[in-house]
Amino acid sequence: MEFWYTEKHTNDVKFSIRVDKQLASIDSEFQRIDVFESPAFGTFLTLDGYMMLTEKDEFIYHEMIVHPAMAVHPNPENILVIGGGDGGALRELAKYPGVKTLDIVEIDKLVVDVCKKWLPQTACGFDDSRVRVFYQDGLKYVRSCIDKYDIIIVDSTDPFGPGEGLFTKEFYGNCFKALKEDGIMVNQHESPFYPKDAEAMQRAHKRITESFGICRVYQAHIPTYPSGHWLFGFASKKYHPVRDLKVRKWKALDLKTHYYNTNLHAGSFALPNYVEEILRNV
Ligand code: SAM
Repeated sequence: MEFWYTEKHTNDVKFSIRVDKQLASIDSEFQRIDVFESPAFGTFLTLDGYMMLTEKDEFIYHEMIVHPAMAVHPNPENILVIGGGDGGALRELAKYPGVKTLDIVEIDKLVVDVCKKWLPQTACGFDDSRVRVFYQDGLKYVRSCIDKYDIIIVDSTDPFGPGEGLFTKEFYGNCFKALKEDGIMVNQHESPFYPKDAEAMQRAHKRITESFGICRVYQAHIPTYPSGHWLFGFASKKYHPVRDLKVRKWKALDLKTHYYNTNLHAGSFALPNYVEEILRNV
């Protein structure tokens, strides 16, 4: 008998992965947490029935949510991750010797515990000595931060359930205040392809442009997310995401990445016409 994990991407589209076994299923205070083992994508984590990450393709998401901003900011020392309880973003950030503090605000401690048990390849990000973990709502956390961070990475769930507040105008405004004068915020920006996702993406982009002077969107191909076409937001007070890319400095760090490189960085900000159009119409 075959078992399949199936996720509804639209009323007319479903995405399925053959599963060998279910490793965990827990109801936390905030969401249902499931972990599965699959032949094609290895171990994968879902929250409330939505794909968060798989062992095989998480490198794309985590490298792309971290390295573009790190390669643009001239001296990123104090970093905040909001969400990101799997530890993948922390793992990428911990590769930088110049980082001094790595704060993470995750609402659900159980996500972290489950990832430490079943997804050590991402949860190893928590092992770095610069990491400080705060278990609370990111929306509330940023309200009290002023002029504190060089980079904020918003590695949230989708804009419903516990993640809803992380797509609001209030949240983006508070991230702006929490950043230093040349700070950068990066957020997972949903997919542009299916109309419902594109609307959420457009709404988020509009709200970000209300707080930040420089707002760009970049893309990556992530096989297990709806449509496979995924966007990230780059919101900045001072630096341009392509013109201020420090190619030689980043290459000199000699970091091991499997997806990101500085050629791809520049290309990822070149968007298809239909995405440009959605963003123009905010
Ligand atoms: N890569 C993922 C994706 O977009 O599919 C996101 C991964 S990460 C597991 C998302 C995390 O955000 C979850 O662990 C969730 O608990 C956390 N989260 C959701 N809402 C939050 C909030 N308001 N404050 C802090 N963390 C939150």
